[in-house]
Amino acid sequence: YPNPRTFAFASVEVAFKSGARVTIDGAELDDALQYGATEGHAALREQLRAWQAHKDGVTLGDDQLVVLSGSQEGLFAVAYLLLDPDDTVVIGEPEYPGALSAFRAFCPGVEVMPVDGGGLDTAALAARLAELRAADKRLPKLVYCVSNGHNPAGVDLALDRRRQLAALAEEFDLLVLEDDPYQLLRLEGGARLPTVQSLAPERVIRLDSFSKIFAPGLRLGYASGPPALMRALVLFKQAANLHTSSFAQATLSRYLAAVDFATFGGEIEKCCALYRRNRDAMIAAARAHLPAEVTFNTPAAGMFLWLELPRGYDAKRMIAADTRDELVLLVPGEAFSTRGALKHCLRASFSTVEPEAIDEGMRRLGRMIARERARASS
Ligand code: PMP
Repeated sequence: YPNPRTFAFASVEVAFKSGARVTIDGAELDDALQYGATEGHAALREQLRAWQAHKDGVTLGDDQLVVLSGSQEGLFAVAYLLLDPDDTVVIGEPEYPGALSAFRAFCPGVEVMPVDGGGLDTAALAARLAELRAADKRLPKLVYCVSNGHNPAGVDLALDRRRQLAALAEEFDLLVLEDDPYQLLRLEGGARLPTVQSLAPERVIRLDSFSKIFAPGLRLGYASGPPALMRALVLFKQAANLHTSSFAQATLSRYLAAVDFATFGGEIEKCCALYRRNRDAMIAAARAHLPAEVTFNTPAAGMFLWLELPRGYDAKRMIAADTRDELVLLVPGEAFSTRGALKHCLRASFSTVEPEAIDEGMRRLGRMIARERARASS
């Protein structure tokens, strides 16, 4: 350990938007700036276990939680630890590109399942697993799922599918990687659905993230699951980065100590209200300005709207041709497929734009689509 007297900080004061103010100094500051335990800051891990019990009804043992530098680290670590070159991993289509690139780094094999209005199509997965078993073929090792506010599809995984996924994991000896950074960014009322982890705790590695409910740049998230797998994650972190930033962890820990879970929940609800307003603006603008042949769901959580244009339209071509003039930022569907599918789809985000700009953006997208229609039919 370096001598704390050499650390550059004298004291740190943080004022939170919730009204909480904290000062970190003395021995606590030395700790917050020193190397720390690989599995995470002890006080924070305790708070996170209480948080998981509070929000998900899941009780985690002390050996079942590892603090991560964002859930992205968990995606990479799980892929690194579990996937061998001859394995396959089940993914959805569309799917979050950050997960696809983590999986692709270690195993080329994917089983691609559709993602529709109810999330990952678990009936299609059940049929595929039965087919593989009947043919005596190797089964996938891991199923990746984003349970809420799917990026890019915007959908939640339906309750019956959560249950089916939990049952399939048991029946076919699979692990599920439940990636859930948008869980608490609810855009609709009603009770939250049970996490897949709560339905099959022995089979699930769950990733929680503070990026969308606290601040993404601090890089804070955590993995939870069976102790043996958490131990492997600790070994991974010892080799990769020793631990997640002590300072970031101390800041979150002091925040959680300064506000109770109800206050934190209220702060998260303010985030939801902002995104809900923007989502409503985007849906209204899409209805007003996009041609009827463009289809989309109303996102239930998260910050994305997934749009399907008619087949034959090429979103990448459209974006390349027009986005610089129209100044609308969109991601073509192909980015969310491992096999260059979804050419006719695109993702819009309503996170950082004000409703007036969302309306203007959709008006411009309407013009872009009209020009693409001409290209598609020529
Ligand atoms: N998973 C999904 C589905 C995401 O959309 C993102 C962020 N774009 C991540 C993981 C990574 O988030 P974090 O900041 O927690 O690493």
